Amino acid sequence: MKKVYTAKDIEALAAKGQGACAIPEGAVLTPSARDALRALKLKKPTASAKSGPVVPDYEFKWTPGGDPKTPEAIEAYFNSPELRVLKERMCDIGRRIWTKNYCDGNGGNITIKVGDNLVLCTPTLISKGFIEPEDICMVDLNGNQVAGWRKRTSEVNTHLAIMKATPDAKSCVHAHPIHATAFAIAGVRPPTCLIPEPEVFLGEIALAHYETPGTPENAKAVGALAPEHQSIIMQNHGVICWGKDVEDAYWKMENTEAYCNTVYIASQLGHGLNPYGGDKLKELISIRRSLGMPDRREGWKECELCDNSEFRPGVVCVAPGGACDCEKEASDGAGSSVSTVDAEALVQKVTDLLMRQLGA
Ligand SMILES: [Zn+2]
Repeated sequence: MKKVYTAKDIEALAAKGQGACAIPEGAVLTPSARDALRALKLKKPTASAKSGPVVPDYEFKWTPGGDPKTPEAIEAYFNSPELRVLKERMCDIGRRIWTKNYCDGNGGNITIKVGDNLVLCTPTLISKGFIEPEDICMVDLNGNQVAGWRKRTSEVNTHLAIMKATPDAKSCVHAHPIHATAFAIAGVRPPTCLIPEPEVFLGEIALAHYETPGTPENAKAVGALAPEHQSIIMQNHGVICWGKDVEDAYWKMENTEAYCNTVYIASQLGHGLNPYGGDKLKELISIRRSLGMPDRREGWKECELCDNSEFRPGVVCVAPGGACDCEKEASDGAGSSVSTVDAEALVQKVTDLLMRQLGA
């Protein structure tokens, strides 16, 4: 018979300095025991946790060509335990995007591909902080709802366009995080060559031109960028990220917002931005490649890699040292390379001069 652990048993283990490892595989934990484990920040290990990867791997795999076909079979699949796990995960991500202030009102939506032609999606007009597994819907790749009592989000077509454009995209998370959405409103792609990790794990953030949310035009604009970008800022709207699973897609959203937030704060410090240069970004892109993530910027010129002219109009090449063999000309007509540091210093000088003249 399986041993049942109560909260008292967990406390007794903790008192002996033993952790969750002392709980045998297959033991039954009462709800209060689970709470006690959580309170002690202990986790009952599973077989995969003992030997599995540090990065969670929630990629869902289905049998190609095996999608259920009849309404009854689709309904049974929709209510299966395996999809229930994914629905719970979607609710968890919903809570996380809401808690982190990435969405407000009924904003944001989440999808997971569960078949050749089947996708779980969040419903419309509901706060993502409070969705339950019973609220999740299922659609086909054309956006037709095939299961679920709530109406699917109208923005699902943009998710589906990403999934159709790249088979690697098995989950999408869309939200309106404040700093990344501020870049969306300004119509500015976040500058590059500033923080190494996002370059490796996120890659180049794309900017899709504005189209009305939920329209085929919006889906088309975003889908076209998806094969080469896992994070896409949609102009005047928000951000959509894709990954191999919902956790992966969500991490890309976190990476994007944290990056935009940090760049925004740095740009307010009055010292300009200090890029590390295209030669260093080349190194990061090769690390990215070694991790199995190709990058369209492989083979680009160093100064093209750090071309932040969208972030600072008039600034073309920002590679330290100013060496640049790009054919592009600076928009001020001088044709010379100007670093953002120089540009910022110039702005500061002019501001100081004006303030002195105004007697401030
Ligand atoms: Zn939206």
